[in-house]
Amino acid sequence: MTTENHTVSDMFGHFTMTIGGRAVAGEQRYEVLNPATEQVFATAPDCAQAELDQAVAAARSAFPVWRDTPIAARRLALHAIADTLQANLEGLTRLLIAEHGKPADVATVDIMGAALWCRGTSQLDLPVQVFEDTEIRRGETRRVPLGVVGAIAAWNYPVLLGMIKVAPALLAGNTVVLKPSPFTPLTTLKIGELLRGVLPDGVLNVISGGDALGPWLTAHPGIDKVTFTGSTQTGRKVAASGAATLKRITLELGGNDAAIVLPDVDVEEVAQKLFWAAFRNSGQVCLAIKRLYIHKDIYEPLKAALVAYAKTVKMGDASEQGTQLGPLQNLPQYQLVLSLIQDAKEQGYTFLTGGEALEGPGYFIPVTLIDNPPEDSRIVQEEQFGPVLPLLRFDTIDEAISRANATEYGLGATVWSSDLHQAARLCERLEAGNCWVNEAHYLSPFGAFSGHKQSGLGVEGSVEGLLEFTNAKTIFVKKAQPVPA
Ligand code: NAD
Repeated sequence: MTTENHTVSDMFGHFTMTIGGRAVAGEQRYEVLNPATEQVFATAPDCAQAELDQAVAAARSAFPVWRDTPIAARRLALHAIADTLQANLEGLTRLLIAEHGKPADVATVDIMGAALWCRGTSQLDLPVQVFEDTEIRRGETRRVPLGVVGAIAAWNYPVLLGMIKVAPALLAGNTVVLKPSPFTPLTTLKIGELLRGVLPDGVLNVISGGDALGPWLTAHPGIDKVTFTGSTQTGRKVAASGAATLKRITLELGGNDAAIVLPDVDVEEVAQKLFWAAFRNSGQVCLAIKRLYIHKDIYEPLKAALVAYAKTVKMGDASEQGTQLGPLQNLPQYQLVLSLIQDAKEQGYTFLTGGEALEGPGYFIPVTLIDNPPEDSRIVQEEQFGPVLPLLRFDTIDEAISRANATEYGLGATVWSSDLHQAARLCERLEAGNCWVNEAHYLSPFGAFSGHKQSGLGVEGSVEGLLEFTNAKTIFVKKAQPVPA
């Protein structure tokens, strides 16, 4: 396996799918635009059903050899992926900025996070459990790969979300067909291209296409498992589609994460941390703070600090130096966020900042803070996934916990306090798969990441997540009968 460093200009140009180690341009293509300029700057293959069949066939034919490849070699393959991402970091970052609109620091985290995830995952082990070993019999349970994994990613962190799926799938001995979002196909296609010759042909196939491709993939009889990141609404369709062929399914879905800020925090210091926990990537983070519950004793000063800090942050085209926040990534998401703002206006809620889309090209909505809207408002109840945040005043901790838990979602939650013990105890009462004290967004390949309630099904990360790419297989070996005395 070799790693090559491609120049930045190599990253743009013609984008092709990777099927069985070969470039496939696609019979049809569609346009990809830069959300900061709304200018089309590239085209991507619009995978046809027959091309999906080829990708699945390539993955299936590569499967037996990859399954039987020693796990030590599969670990090295994950390092080779990481090496490739790192060797091409600059060019991939530029490409990701162009297709996504995210600032360079966020694009770097997307790519480097993927590399680190590959390296971390490579250290996980597939357990062998010997539960009986007597003179009569040996019984053990092993884990074996499932076959072909269909991996479907959302557009907000295309590289990281893709590799969080690819790394454990490959380590467990599966082969993969990876499909990025139609809105952000290019960086993933380029990574597929860079990995030709790094991974054996057919082990990782990368395809791109429009709205029909996801449903074709989840219904495809040649796919054994679907691992999906996206909205709860689509997750339900994926589960229904996979049921016909009893596919194994992992779903990482939407969230409406609450943050609870207790009165003992340092207001100035915590304001900046809360700001970035809510607005990094222009709020397009599944684990972004989406409802900010602030204790009444510090509500006014923290509100003032957030408003003051928001005014210092630069939004714009991420290809320009100093940009800290980019546009919404795509038109439907832009329209969704604007509809939530419009609803808040019609209801007469108070806007502390923002509230109007920026003029000119690009899907820009400035940081919008809404002052204490009612709990049953759309902006509190729905996942905004954009740069709009309701600030919500609470009186007692019990009240804050109950309001935080009053949602169908259960992805993440944060508690902010100088009393770490109390904050950790509050985490235990929050109905969410991932809780943080005094920080947000931090993830580890060694920790189980899961959405509770309508935020998901199954686990990513950790040995538990790795096992989701396997079947249990139990082998009993009857030993020679002991000779009766
Ligand atoms: P989405 O559900 O619209 O699309 C996600 C992916 O599914 C895309 O690749 C899309 O092409 C594909 N898809 C669409 N319809 C499909 C179908 N019927 N069958 C199969 N695939 C289909 O979501 P999105 O707008 O791309 O992403 C935003 C959502 O993702 C938000 O709700 C966000 O919270 C969530 N998200 C969750 C996590 C997590 O780890 N829990 C991480 C990132 C984003």
